[in-house]
Amino acid sequence: MRARIAVLGGDGIGPEVVAESLRCLTAVAAKFGHTIDCDQQLFGGAAIDVYNDPLPQRTLDACLQADGVLLGAIGGPKWGPAAAVRPEPGLLRLRRELGVYANLRPIKLHPMLRDASCIRAELLEGVDLIFARELTGGIYFGEKSRTPTSATDVCTYTVTEIERITRVAGRLATARRRHVTSIDKSNVLETSRLWREVAERVIRAEFPAITLEHMLVDAAAMHLIKRPRDFDVLLTENMFGDILTDEAAMLASSLGVLPSASLGDGKRGLYEPIHGSAPDIAGRGIANPIGTILSAALLLEHSLGWTAAARALEQAVADAVTNGARTADIVSPGKTPLSTRQMGDAVLAELTR
Ligand code: NAD
Repeated sequence: MRARIAVLGGDGIGPEVVAESLRCLTAVAAKFGHTIDCDQQLFGGAAIDVYNDPLPQRTLDACLQADGVLLGAIGGPKWGPAAAVRPEPGLLRLRRELGVYANLRPIKLHPMLRDASCIRAELLEGVDLIFARELTGGIYFGEKSRTPTSATDVCTYTVTEIERITRVAGRLATARRRHVTSIDKSNVLETSRLWREVAERVIRAEFPAITLEHMLVDAAAMHLIKRPRDFDVLLTENMFGDILTDEAAMLASSLGVLPSASLGDGKRGLYEPIHGSAPDIAGRGIANPIGTILSAALLLEHSLGWTAAARALEQAVADAVTNGARTADIVSPGKTPLSTRQMGDAVLAELTR
Protein backbone atom coordinates (compact mmCIF):
# COMPACT_ATOMS: atom_id res chain seq x y z
CA MET A 1 0.00 0.00 0.00
CA ARG A 2 1.05 3.59 -0.52
CA ALA A 3 0.50 6.64 1.70
CA ARG A 4 1.43 10.29 1.67
CA ILE A 5 2.49 12.14 4.79
CA ALA A 6 3.36 15.75 5.47
CA VAL A 7 6.55 16.17 7.49
CA LEU A 8 7.11 19.32 9.54
CA GLY A 9 10.44 19.35 11.35
CA GLY A 10 9.78 22.76 12.90
CA ASP A 11 12.36 24.38 15.15
CA GLY A 12 15.10 23.55 17.63
CA ILE A 13 15.44 19.80 18.10
CA GLY A 14 12.33 19.24 15.95
CA PRO A 15 14.19 18.55 12.67
CA GLU A 16 16.75 16.37 14.53
CA VAL A 17 14.18 14.03 16.07
CA VAL A 18 11.94 14.01 13.00
CA ALA A 19 14.87 12.88 10.82
CA GLU A 20 15.30 9.75 12.98
CA SER A 21 11.58 9.13 13.16
CA LEU A 22 11.33 9.35 9.38
CA ARG A 23 14.18 6.88 8.88
CA CYS A 24 12.42 4.39 11.15
CA LEU A 25 9.01 5.06 9.59
CA THR A 26 10.14 4.46 6.02
CA ALA A 27 12.12 1.38 7.08
CA VAL A 28 9.21 -0.26 8.88
CA ALA A 29 6.84 0.60 6.03
CA ALA A 30 9.22 -1.04 3.53
CA LYS A 31 9.54 -4.08 5.79
CA PHE A 32 5.78 -4.59 5.50
CA GLY A 33 5.70 -3.88 1.74
CA HIS A 34 4.34 -0.33 2.01
CA THR A 35 5.61 2.92 0.51
CA ILE A 36 5.41 6.33 2.13
CA ASP A 37 5.72 9.55 0.11
CA CYS A 38 6.92 12.44 2.25
CA ASP A 39 6.19 16.11 1.68
CA GLN A 40 8.58 18.10 3.90
CA GLN A 41 7.52 21.68 4.66
CA LEU A 42 8.59 24.59 6.82
CA PHE A 43 6.54 25.29 9.94
CA GLY A 44 6.78 27.49 13.02
CA GLY A 45 9.77 29.78 13.47
CA ALA A 46 11.52 28.26 10.43
CA ALA A 47 8.53 29.31 8.29
CA ILE A 48 8.39 32.77 9.88
CA ASP A 49 12.01 33.32 8.84
CA VAL A 50 11.17 32.59 5.20
CA TYR A 51 7.49 33.53 4.78
CA ASN A 52 6.81 35.74 7.83
CA ASP A 53 4.03 33.26 8.60
CA PRO A 54 4.29 30.22 10.93
CA LEU A 55 1.78 28.27 8.81
CA PRO A 56 2.27 29.26 5.16
CA GLN A 57 -0.43 28.18 2.71
CA ARG A 58 1.86 25.61 1.07
CA THR A 59 2.48 23.95 4.46
CA LEU A 60 -1.22 23.91 5.29
CA ASP A 61 -2.06 22.52 1.84
CA ALA A 62 0.52 19.73 2.24
CA CYS A 63 -1.05 18.81 5.61
CA LEU A 64 -4.61 18.91 4.29
CA GLN A 65 -3.66 16.69 1.33
CA ALA A 66 -1.74 14.15 3.41
CA ASP A 67 -2.97 10.97 5.08
CA GLY A 68 -1.18 12.08 8.24
CA VAL A 69 1.16 14.77 9.52
CA LEU A 70 4.41 14.09 11.40
CA LEU A 71 5.59 17.09 13.40
CA GLY A 72 8.69 17.77 15.51
CA ALA A 73 8.24 20.87 17.63
CA ILE A 74 8.12 24.61 17.16
CA GLY A 75 9.24 27.74 18.97
CA GLY A 76 12.37 29.17 20.46
CA PRO A 77 13.88 32.34 21.92
CA LYS A 78 14.30 33.93 18.48
CA TRP A 79 10.49 34.12 18.17
CA GLY A 80 9.71 34.76 21.87
CA PRO A 81 6.75 36.61 23.44
CA ALA A 82 7.98 40.01 22.17
CA ALA A 83 8.24 38.90 18.50
CA ALA A 84 5.82 40.48 16.01
CA VAL A 85 4.97 37.07 14.51
CA ARG A 86 5.14 34.01 16.79
CA PRO A 87 5.15 30.27 16.00
CA GLU A 88 2.48 29.12 18.47
CA PRO A 89 -0.56 30.61 16.67
CA GLY A 90 0.53 28.55 13.64
CA LEU A 91 0.27 25.32 15.64
CA LEU A 92 -3.11 26.25 17.10
CA ARG A 93 -4.35 27.10 13.60
CA LEU A 94 -3.01 23.87 12.13
CA ARG A 95 -4.83 21.83 14.80
CA ARG A 96 -8.04 23.70 14.09
CA GLU A 97 -7.70 23.47 10.27
CA LEU A 98 -7.11 19.72 10.54
CA GLY A 99 -10.06 19.43 12.94
CA VAL A 100 -7.98 17.39 15.37
CA TYR A 101 -9.82 17.98 18.63
CA ALA A 102 -8.64 14.91 20.54
CA ASN A 103 -5.04 14.71 21.71
CA LEU A 104 -4.12 11.22 22.90
CA ARG A 105 -1.03 10.93 25.08
CA PRO A 106 -0.26 7.40 26.24
CA ILE A 107 2.06 7.14 29.21
CA LYS A 108 3.62 3.79 29.93
CA LEU A 109 6.98 3.20 31.54
CA HIS A 110 9.43 0.81 29.91
CA PRO A 111 10.48 -1.43 32.84
CA MET A 112 14.17 -0.83 32.07
CA LEU A 113 13.69 2.93 32.45
CA ARG A 114 12.36 2.78 36.01
CA ASP A 115 15.63 4.06 37.39
CA ALA A 116 15.73 6.93 34.87
CA SER A 117 12.60 8.48 36.38
CA CYS A 118 12.93 11.06 39.13
CA ILE A 119 10.01 9.33 40.88
CA ARG A 120 10.56 6.42 43.29
CA ALA A 121 10.64 3.12 41.36
CA GLU A 122 8.05 1.34 43.56
CA LEU A 123 5.44 3.99 42.67
CA LEU A 124 5.96 3.36 38.97
CA GLU A 125 5.26 -0.37 38.82
CA GLY A 126 2.34 -1.02 36.45
CA VAL A 127 1.79 2.58 35.35
CA ASP A 128 -0.20 2.53 32.11
CA LEU A 129 -2.43 5.51 31.49
CA ILE A 130 -3.59 7.66 28.61
CA PHE A 131 -4.74 11.25 28.40
CA ALA A 132 -7.63 12.28 26.18
CA ARG A 133 -7.01 16.02 26.07
CA GLU A 134 -9.40 18.41 24.30
CA LEU A 135 -7.25 20.27 21.78
CA THR A 136 -9.17 22.91 19.85
CA GLY A 137 -11.19 24.73 22.51
CA GLY A 138 -10.86 26.39 25.88
CA ILE A 139 -8.67 29.25 26.95
CA TYR A 140 -5.99 28.75 24.26
CA PHE A 141 -8.56 29.51 21.56
CA GLY A 142 -10.63 32.13 23.43
CA GLU A 143 -10.68 35.85 22.73
CA LYS A 144 -7.60 37.67 23.99
CA SER A 145 -7.19 41.33 24.87
CA ARG A 146 -4.65 43.58 26.45
CA THR A 147 -4.72 47.08 27.93
CA PRO A 148 -1.74 48.85 29.48
CA THR A 149 -2.84 47.62 32.91
CA SER A 150 -4.58 44.30 32.31
CA ALA A 151 -4.87 41.26 30.07
CA THR A 152 -7.74 38.87 29.37
CA ASP A 153 -7.98 35.31 27.97
CA VAL A 154 -11.51 34.01 27.60
CA CYS A 155 -12.22 30.32 28.27
CA THR A 156 -15.27 28.92 26.49
CA TYR A 157 -16.48 25.34 26.03
CA THR A 158 -19.54 24.22 24.13
CA VAL A 159 -21.58 21.13 24.96
CA THR A 160 -20.63 19.65 21.58
CA GLU A 161 -16.91 20.08 22.22
CA ILE A 162 -17.18 18.33 25.59
CA GLU A 163 -19.41 15.56 24.26
CA ARG A 164 -17.06 14.55 21.46
CA ILE A 165 -13.89 14.39 23.59
CA THR A 166 -15.82 12.51 26.29
CA ARG A 167 -16.78 9.92 23.66
CA VAL A 168 -13.12 9.57 22.71
CA ALA A 169 -12.27 8.90 26.37
CA GLY A 170 -15.19 6.46 26.63
CA ARG A 171 -14.04 4.51 23.58
CA LEU A 172 -10.45 4.40 24.84
CA ALA A 173 -11.54 3.18 28.26
CA THR A 174 -13.81 0.52 26.73
CA ALA A 175 -10.73 -1.03 25.11
CA ARG A 176 -8.68 -0.69 28.31
CA ARG A 177 -9.52 -0.97 32.02
CA ARG A 178 -12.91 0.81 31.79
CA HIS A 179 -12.08 3.69 34.08
CA VAL A 180 -12.28 7.37 33.16
CA THR A 181 -11.07 10.16 35.42
CA SER A 182 -12.52 13.46 34.25
CA ILE A 183 -10.40 16.41 35.38
CA ASP A 184 -11.92 19.82 36.04
CA LYS A 185 -11.94 22.80 38.39
CA SER A 186 -15.68 22.78 38.99
CA ASN A 187 -15.37 24.38 42.42
CA VAL A 188 -14.31 27.61 40.69
CA LEU A 189 -14.90 27.59 36.92
CA GLU A 190 -18.24 27.67 35.09
CA THR A 191 -16.72 25.88 32.08
CA SER A 192 -15.68 23.10 34.46
CA ARG A 193 -19.19 22.77 35.88
CA LEU A 194 -20.49 22.32 32.34
CA TRP A 195 -17.62 19.89 31.65
CA ARG A 196 -18.57 17.74 34.66
CA GLU A 197 -22.28 17.67 33.77
CA VAL A 198 -21.68 16.73 30.14
CA ALA A 199 -19.01 14.12 30.90
CA GLU A 200 -21.33 12.55 33.46
CA ARG A 201 -24.28 12.45 31.05
CA VAL A 202 -22.34 11.05 28.07
CA ILE A 203 -20.54 8.31 30.01
CA ARG A 204 -23.67 7.24 31.93
CA ALA A 205 -25.80 7.11 28.76
CA GLU A 206 -23.35 5.76 26.20
CA PHE A 207 -20.72 3.86 28.21
CA PRO A 208 -22.61 2.27 31.14
CA ALA A 209 -19.84 -0.30 31.75
CA ILE A 210 -17.32 2.43 32.49
CA THR A 211 -16.55 3.76 35.95
CA LEU A 212 -16.42 7.55 35.85
CA GLU A 213 -14.58 9.51 38.51
CA HIS A 214 -14.40 13.32 38.71
CA MET A 215 -11.26 14.93 40.08
CA LEU A 216 -10.25 18.54 40.60
CA VAL A 217 -7.17 19.43 38.60
CA ASP A 218 -5.11 20.41 41.66
CA ALA A 219 -5.85 17.08 43.33
CA ALA A 220 -5.10 15.28 40.07
CA ALA A 221 -1.65 16.90 39.96
CA MET A 222 -0.94 15.31 43.34
CA HIS A 223 -2.54 11.90 42.75
CA LEU A 224 -0.69 11.46 39.44
CA ILE A 225 2.55 11.36 41.38
CA LYS A 226 1.26 9.69 44.56
CA ARG A 227 -0.69 6.79 43.01
CA PRO A 228 -0.16 6.87 39.22
CA ARG A 229 -1.08 3.23 38.61
CA ASP A 230 -4.68 3.93 39.70
CA PHE A 231 -5.31 5.96 36.52
CA ASP A 232 -6.52 4.47 33.25
CA VAL A 233 -7.99 7.20 30.97
CA LEU A 234 -7.73 10.85 31.99
CA LEU A 235 -10.20 13.17 30.29
CA THR A 236 -9.11 16.81 30.33
CA GLU A 237 -9.81 20.17 28.77
CA ASN A 238 -7.06 21.83 26.77
CA MET A 239 -4.91 23.71 29.31
CA PHE A 240 -5.24 21.23 32.18
CA GLY A 241 -4.15 18.46 29.81
CA ASP A 242 -1.22 20.49 28.55
CA ILE A 243 0.10 20.95 32.07
CA LEU A 244 -0.70 17.53 33.54
CA THR A 245 0.84 15.60 30.63
CA ASP A 246 4.22 17.26 31.16
CA GLU A 247 3.99 16.29 34.82
CA ALA A 248 2.92 12.75 33.91
CA ALA A 249 5.85 12.48 31.48
CA MET A 250 8.09 12.19 34.53
CA LEU A 251 6.39 8.86 35.27
CA ALA A 252 7.83 7.58 31.99
CA SER A 253 11.32 8.96 32.74
CA SER A 254 11.66 11.86 30.27
CA LEU A 255 9.68 14.23 28.09
CA GLY A 256 11.75 12.83 25.23
CA VAL A 257 10.15 9.36 25.20
CA LEU A 258 6.47 10.25 24.91
CA PRO A 259 4.42 10.40 21.71
CA SER A 260 1.06 11.94 20.97
CA ALA A 261 -1.67 11.62 18.37
CA SER A 262 -4.13 14.40 17.62
CA LEU A 263 -7.24 13.07 15.96
CA GLY A 264 -10.56 14.30 14.64
CA ASP A 265 -13.55 12.51 13.19
CA GLY A 266 -11.77 11.20 10.09
CA LYS A 267 -8.56 9.23 9.72
CA ARG A 268 -6.22 12.17 9.24
CA GLY A 269 -4.15 13.02 12.30
CA LEU A 270 -1.28 15.11 13.57
CA TYR A 271 1.48 13.19 15.33
CA GLU A 272 4.14 14.81 17.49
CA PRO A 273 6.22 14.13 20.59
CA ILE A 274 4.88 15.84 23.69
CA HIS A 275 8.04 17.88 24.21
CA GLY A 276 8.88 21.29 22.78
CA SER A 277 11.79 22.48 20.66
CA ALA A 278 14.27 22.26 23.59
CA PRO A 279 16.45 25.23 22.55
CA ASP A 280 18.82 24.41 25.42
CA ILE A 281 20.02 21.27 23.59
CA ALA A 282 19.15 22.09 19.96
CA GLY A 283 21.91 21.60 17.37
CA ARG A 284 23.97 19.31 19.60
CA GLY A 285 22.60 16.01 18.30
CA ILE A 286 21.77 14.74 21.78
CA ALA A 287 17.94 14.92 21.85
CA ASN A 288 15.99 11.75 22.46
CA PRO A 289 14.06 10.81 19.27
CA ILE A 290 11.98 8.05 20.92
CA GLY A 291 8.88 10.23 21.44
CA THR A 292 8.89 11.18 17.77
CA ILE A 293 9.56 7.61 16.61
CA LEU A 294 6.64 6.39 18.73
CA SER A 295 4.52 9.22 17.28
CA ALA A 296 5.24 7.72 13.86
CA ALA A 297 3.97 4.38 15.18
CA LEU A 298 0.72 6.12 16.20
CA LEU A 299 0.51 7.58 12.67
CA LEU A 300 0.90 4.10 11.20
CA GLU A 301 -1.88 2.82 13.43
CA HIS A 302 -4.47 5.60 13.44
CA SER A 303 -4.09 7.33 10.06
CA LEU A 304 -2.76 4.57 7.82
CA GLY A 305 -4.29 1.53 9.52
CA TRP A 306 -0.99 -0.38 9.17
CA THR A 307 -1.27 -1.92 12.60
CA ALA A 308 1.35 -4.65 12.16
CA ALA A 309 3.94 -2.06 11.14
CA ALA A 310 2.95 0.13 14.10
CA ARG A 311 3.42 -2.75 16.56
CA ALA A 312 6.76 -3.66 14.95
CA LEU A 313 8.05 -0.11 15.34
CA GLU A 314 6.95 0.05 18.99
CA GLN A 315 8.60 -3.30 19.63
CA ALA A 316 11.84 -2.13 17.97
CA VAL A 317 11.94 0.88 20.31
CA ALA A 318 11.26 -1.34 23.33
CA ASP A 319 13.97 -3.80 22.24
CA ALA A 320 16.50 -1.02 21.67
CA VAL A 321 15.86 0.27 25.18
CA THR A 322 15.98 -3.24 26.62
CA ASN A 323 19.35 -3.70 24.93
CA GLY A 324 20.67 -0.61 26.65
CA ALA A 325 20.20 2.21 24.11
CA ARG A 326 20.04 5.48 26.08
CA THR A 327 20.27 9.12 25.08
CA ALA A 328 21.55 11.67 27.61
CA ASP A 329 18.14 12.36 29.19
CA ILE A 330 17.66 8.71 30.26
CA VAL A 331 21.21 7.43 30.66
CA SER A 332 22.42 6.04 33.99
CA PRO A 333 25.19 7.98 35.75
CA GLY A 334 28.62 6.94 34.53
CA LYS A 335 27.34 5.43 31.25
CA THR A 336 28.02 6.94 27.82
CA PRO A 337 24.87 8.25 26.13
CA LEU A 338 23.96 7.71 22.49
CA SER A 339 23.48 10.64 20.12
CA THR A 340 20.11 11.28 18.47
CA ARG A 341 21.37 9.59 15.31
CA GLN A 342 22.77 6.60 17.20
CA MET A 343 19.43 6.09 18.94
CA GLY A 344 17.79 6.08 15.49
CA ASP A 345 20.41 3.52 14.40
CA ALA A 346 19.64 1.35 17.44
CA VAL A 347 15.91 1.25 16.62
CA LEU A 348 16.65 0.58 12.94
CA ALA A 349 18.96 -2.27 13.93
CA GLU A 350 16.13 -3.89 15.90
CA LEU A 351 13.75 -3.40 12.96
CA THR A 352 16.05 -5.18 10.58
CA ARG A 353 17.13 -7.91 12.98
P1 NAD B 1 10.73 21.66 26.09
O1 NAD B 1 9.80 20.50 26.10
O2 NAD B 1 11.23 22.08 24.77
O3 NAD B 1 11.99 21.33 27.02
C1 NAD B 1 11.89 21.09 28.42
C2 NAD B 1 13.14 20.35 28.91
O4 NAD B 1 13.08 19.00 28.43
C3 NAD B 1 14.42 20.95 28.37
O5 NAD B 1 15.41 20.86 29.36
C4 NAD B 1 14.77 20.07 27.19
O6 NAD B 1 16.16 19.99 26.93
C5 NAD B 1 14.22 18.72 27.64
N1 NAD B 1 13.79 17.94 26.48
C6 NAD B 1 12.68 18.17 25.71
N2 NAD B 1 12.62 17.28 24.73
C7 NAD B 1 13.70 16.47 24.84
C8 NAD B 1 14.19 15.37 24.09
N3 NAD B 1 13.55 14.91 23.01
N4 NAD B 1 15.34 14.79 24.50
C9 NAD B 1 15.99 15.22 25.58
N5 NAD B 1 15.57 16.27 26.34
C10 NAD B 1 14.44 16.88 25.96
O7 NAD B 1 9.98 22.85 26.83
P2 NAD B 1 10.41 24.37 26.99
O8 NAD B 1 11.88 24.48 27.19
O9 NAD B 1 9.49 24.91 28.01
O10 NAD B 1 10.02 25.04 25.62
C11 NAD B 1 10.96 25.30 24.56
C12 NAD B 1 10.20 25.83 23.36
O11 NAD B 1 9.33 24.79 22.86
C13 NAD B 1 9.31 27.02 23.64
O12 NAD B 1 9.44 27.92 22.58
C14 NAD B 1 7.90 26.43 23.69
O13 NAD B 1 6.92 27.37 23.31
C15 NAD B 1 8.02 25.34 22.67
N6 NAD B 1 7.06 24.24 22.81
C16 NAD B 1 6.56 23.74 21.67
C17 NAD B 1 5.69 22.67 21.72
C18 NAD B 1 5.18 22.12 20.41
O14 NAD B 1 5.75 22.37 19.37
N7 NAD B 1 4.11 21.34 20.41
C19 NAD B 1 5.34 22.11 22.93
C20 NAD B 1 5.90 22.62 24.10
C21 NAD B 1 6.77 23.70 24.04
